[in-house]
Amino acid sequence: MDVFDLIVVGGGASGFMSSITAAENDVSKINILESTTKLLEKVRISGGGRCNVTNASWVPSEFIDNYPRGRKKLIESFSRFAAGDVFEWFQEKGVKLKIEDDHRIFPISDSSLDIVNCLKNTAQNMGIEISTKKFVKRIERDGKDGLFKVFISKNEFLLTKKLLISTGGHSSGHRLAESLGHRIIKPVPSLFSFSCRDEKLKECRGVAVKNVYLEISLNNKNFKSQGDLLITHWGFSGPGILRLSSFAARDLYEKQYKFKLCIKWTNLDLSELSNKMNMLREVNGTSNLCNLRPIPSLTKRLWVYLLNKLEIDNTKTWSELFSKERHKIINILLNDEYQISGKGPFSDEFVTSGGVSLDEVNFKTMESFICKDLYFTGEILDVDGITGGFNFQHCWTSGWLAGKAIAN
Ligand SMILES: Cc1cc2nc3c(=O)[nH]c(=O)nc-3n(C[C@H](O)[C@H](O)[C@H](O)COP(=O)(O)OP(=O)(O)OC[C@H]3O[C@@H](n4cnc5c(N)ncnc54)[C@H](O)[C@@H]3O)c2cc1C
Repeated sequence: MDVFDLIVVGGGASGFMSSITAAENDVSKINILESTTKLLEKVRISGGGRCNVTNASWVPSEFIDNYPRGRKKLIESFSRFAAGDVFEWFQEKGVKLKIEDDHRIFPISDSSLDIVNCLKNTAQNMGIEISTKKFVKRIERDGKDGLFKVFISKNEFLLTKKLLISTGGHSSGHRLAESLGHRIIKPVPSLFSFSCRDEKLKECRGVAVKNVYLEISLNNKNFKSQGDLLITHWGFSGPGILRLSSFAARDLYEKQYKFKLCIKWTNLDLSELSNKMNMLREVNGTSNLCNLRPIPSLTKRLWVYLLNKLEIDNTKTWSELFSKERHKIINILLNDEYQISGKGPFSDEFVTSGGVSLDEVNFKTMESFICKDLYFTGEILDVDGITGGFNFQHCWTSGWLAGKAIAN
């Protein structure tokens, strides 16, 4: 029976990166086993079909701040293969990349298919075997020769000297890791939007506000985020919310996604905002409240919604505003509260927080400390990042490190 040098379970970003790197470093008999018919499916749908490949943040010690889980372990990995290396890696293989104003990196074509095709074609050209519709159910280690038996049906198995599991957030991969002695940190969703039952807020659906300050207090911890916010027909979304959901993911899961969200709608502090309100009353006293907003970045719809929430008549002029009402406005702009009732309705979370426990894996090689010749890469590990290309960067880095180590 044929023995493979390397079997990779899972045909996603990190599985392809590790296989290609191993092949480029003279590992010859490699097989990628993918359970579905679709290779690199998450790469294809990523970044709204554009694939946010990585992030142009070049200092590893700053890069790691974008990982709520895995931060400390990643510094070592990123010092070997970081965003700049990924940029070069794809450019060398003919995929032209661009850096957008917010540092996110995409293919110049704005098509994720460039990345998918690059990985697929490179793997094929290197002679890597790629087998779809091969669901790995079970793995056994043969005590005699140390080979792994990788079962793709009840009695059918393949033999390999080295094994890499890159099954993303799928539970079947977690079960395989457990069967080989690994501890799984409970998987919970990360990067999701928030549902809010405030019926009146629906009038603001589609409203986007730049650079708001968000805060959640839970379990004696404060989670803060700053960024753009989008009001949807079910609640709140946008980069600022996704970022907050990521940092608070495990605590929010514990509270079953029922919590209070505080929004500060402006970067002004109390005294700056009070001065601004006074000035508006003095200079524009005859303007109606609804026609003149103290914070221009709030749209008229949102401003009117906030006035209604405070039960302040929005047809009043600025000079007719009572002092008590003025204080209420200041308060809501600095500390507006919403009761969140759950995650967004479409299971729209992007990554899994949790997975293979990090202290059981060598982050120089991605090899298991528990089971020799077993490697893990990508989302199956208890590593997850915020949006901006950080999740793929972890896939590329862990895949590259594993490929190199397997070859050595
Ligand atoms: C909608 C969406 C958009 C995203 N956009 C971005 C983005 O723009 N930038 C970014 O950095 N991140 C993004 N992410 C996150 C990113 O896609 C993931 O972090 C990344 O794809 C994880 O790669 P992976 O190789 O670890 O696993 P996956 O890509 O999940 O691949 C795992 C593969 O293993 C297969 N598999 C599972 N179990 C078995 C088994 N038992 N046997 C055989 N095969 C198995 C699965 O079918 C799958 O193909 C996005 C995620 C989503 C959902």
